[in-house]
Amino acid sequence: MIKRLCVIGVGLIGGSLARALREAKFVDEIIGASRNAGHLQKAVQLGVVDRYETDLAVAVKGADMVLVSVPLGAMNAVFTAIKGSLGVDAVVTDAGSAKAGVVEAVKAAIGEQPAWFVPGHPIAGTEQSGVEASFADLYKGRRVILTPTEKTSAAATQKVRAMWEAAGAIVNEMDVDHHDEVLAATSHLPHMLAFALVESLARMSEQREIFEYAAGGFRDFTRIASSDPVMWRDICIANRDALLATLETFRGDLDDLAAAIQDRDESRILSIFQDAKAARDGFAG
Ligand code: NAP
Repeated sequence: MIKRLCVIGVGLIGGSLARALREAKFVDEIIGASRNAGHLQKAVQLGVVDRYETDLAVAVKGADMVLVSVPLGAMNAVFTAIKGSLGVDAVVTDAGSAKAGVVEAVKAAIGEQPAWFVPGHPIAGTEQSGVEASFADLYKGRRVILTPTEKTSAAATQKVRAMWEAAGAIVNEMDVDHHDEVLAATSHLPHMLAFALVESLARMSEQREIFEYAAGGFRDFTRIASSDPVMWRDICIANRDALLATLETFRGDLDDLAAAIQDRDESRILSIFQDAKAARDGFAG
């Protein structure tokens, strides 16, 4: 059980965890915190948090659990703001989509890698943002990856694990760098492709016609291009090296496909599509 949870950044991710923990009766009191009082008032109206503070140092006072669910570029400023106000037993975790950058930002803010900080990443989300988009079932049956460092206390990791499990998630642990490589391929690369495709098509002169005749496949493939641009800019910068490596591999594979089409190499084209279909059918099944 959590006595007082402080959620810094009550958007899709933080708001959904607050809703899930409240529904599971796993928390007594929830404090919301961020920059904009209007957003936080909305969170109170929706019953997502009990009360709010715009001063982060005040917000974390007395909290036994703190979730930092702000864009990656804001992590350093948030940890700098809260470091002097955390209680001795407080555990802090985050939800950032790339982990090495967060671990570095926390170390830079605190001056060392703290035992009370458990880096985390829920592998769940939608293309919507803000507290209005949050919902209690977001984490049901979904994975959460924790990437404790060698300095993270086992008790803190256990407490964060129990919190995500109460929200319905399946929790795994992974090394920070391995997490960033895996997520570069499975999440960050597809988002780059969706953003780049839609941006490229939007610049074509027949743009209106392209979107008018776009069918279900285009809608499925490009849904994630409606995701928050600030969040994804921060992810690109934070996971730059792993993302560039996976983009380079993909660029080579796309060149192979283009060459097969150029050469009218039917068997090569068929083999690429058959391999893709088998992999996707296996994954979807
Ligand atoms: P979101 O809905 O836009 O919420 C972000 C929240 O952060 C807002 O409530 C915003 O409130 C607050 N915020 C922004 N800058 C801040 C600052 N400098 N200080 C304090 N609060 C600040 O975003 P989200 O989708 O929940 O994403 C949050 C985190 O989860 C990100 O790190 C993201 O990488 C990660 N994540 C997202 C997804 C996804 O699918 N969306 C999935 C997994 C992980 P104010 O405007 O009031 O400050």
